[in-house]
Amino acid sequence: RSRDPDQKEFLQAVDEVFESLTPVFQQDPQYLEAFERLIEPERQIIFRVPWIDDSGVQRVNRGYRVQMSSALGPYKGGLRFHPTVTLSVIKFLAFEQTFKNSLTTLMMGAGKGGSDFDPRGRSDREVMAFCQSFMCELYRHIGADTDVPAGDINVGGREIGYLFGQYKRLANNFTGVLTGKDLRWGGSLIRPEATGYGCVYFAQNYLAHKGETLEGKRCVISGSGNVAQYTAEKLLQLGAVPITFSDSNGYVLEPNGFTQAQINHVMELKNARRVRISEYCAFSQTAQYFPGKRPWEVPADLAFPSATQNEIDQEDADTLVANGVRGVFEGANMPSTNEAIEVYKKAGVMFGPAKAANAGGVAVSGLEMAQNSQRMQWSRAEVDSQLERIMKDIFNNSLAAAQKYGLKDDIQAGANIAGFLKVADAMIHQGCV
Ligand code: NDP
Repeated sequence: RSRDPDQKEFLQAVDEVFESLTPVFQQDPQYLEAFERLIEPERQIIFRVPWIDDSGVQRVNRGYRVQMSSALGPYKGGLRFHPTVTLSVIKFLAFEQTFKNSLTTLMMGAGKGGSDFDPRGRSDREVMAFCQSFMCELYRHIGADTDVPAGDINVGGREIGYLFGQYKRLANNFTGVLTGKDLRWGGSLIRPEATGYGCVYFAQNYLAHKGETLEGKRCVISGSGNVAQYTAEKLLQLGAVPITFSDSNGYVLEPNGFTQAQINHVMELKNARRVRISEYCAFSQTAQYFPGKRPWEVPADLAFPSATQNEIDQEDADTLVANGVRGVFEGANMPSTNEAIEVYKKAGVMFGPAKAANAGGVAVSGLEMAQNSQRMQWSRAEVDSQLERIMKDIFNNSLAAAQKYGLKDDIQAGANIAGFLKVADAMIHQGCV
């Protein structure tokens, strides 16, 4: 805290984990020492990204890569391009990634990166110019066995393509140095779907633990990007009723639930045409658009925040609870403030914390790395069944860790403990490095 007093997102993430680990530290002080090491990233890289826009004007952005922990394998975690990106945001994401990657049961360390570049309104050529310049510095810090970035907000298939092309040109090798690649040149089936599908599998396991199913549950979803889209699709497949999508301008409500054709239309609007979610209303007679609002005011059974950090504060959490929401499953990273989490706990709301509930994306990235190393591509059914198994294991391991420390079914604490112990044990075995 004294080292980085202004890094509020990072400190928020550390506080949340630290509190859950208190019983672990009480049992063995070696773990507190490991934690003190873990909160200092192994390496932080900050660099200049100059590029030329379509009118010939020079632009300069700031690039980041925080290599948090290599205790369990090569650094692994996405790249985010968004004007709100700061070192604090990237550090909180890299910190969360450490526990998440550990929970997947795969051998992956943790990192995160990105830039304050805003791709909104930029042409394909401008995005390519930016990605190429970004990779001109990043390439010397990454590698298939060193650090393997992926996508995050505003970094999807198009950006991964440009980044990979530039890496290949600079390094003169074709290896699985990025995940989230196109299927035709090294990507994995189910990777685009993995975070959303995984989050719904996690919710399914949690509900089953309570003797319930997803059937007929009305679900509010925020965001309309990668995670939100595939969360809606899987909810629909499993009999639930997804009723909202949003973006930073407002939300759309489909009172009887989105059909698959309507979800496909959202995908077309957001992925191909790259327009605002409000445009969806031109396609549906029944949809309603609420400008400047977030979907937490809509009565529902379950909530799937899938946009960004701190999108549910205490007041929003109170509204969710008052409106009947009994489960919150985090597709986004740290979408709930620590005060909001307190509200869920007091109200007995089922809470799937991000590092557990949204780990499906990085898990399938781990499977993409395995396929690249084998120079093979696995079937859709094979990858999906592995994803389902991993999400079940994450739920069960989090539950078991909570119970071991006398915390009943506190999945939030359990996920922190289970994720931490594996990394901490590796750090202790590897010496004071
Ligand atoms: P996308 O870029 O595909 O979509 C992001 C969505 O969130 C858009 O609808 C965007 O709206 C909205 N959003 C972003 N920032 C804000 C903001 N400040 N306020 C309101 N809305 C906002 O990203 P993803 O779907 O990939 O990522 C969403 C979340 O899921 C992030 O927290 C990410 O870290 C997390 N995540 C993603 C994984 C993945 O595999 N993709 C894996 C694990 C977690 P707009 O267009 O208006 O900005």
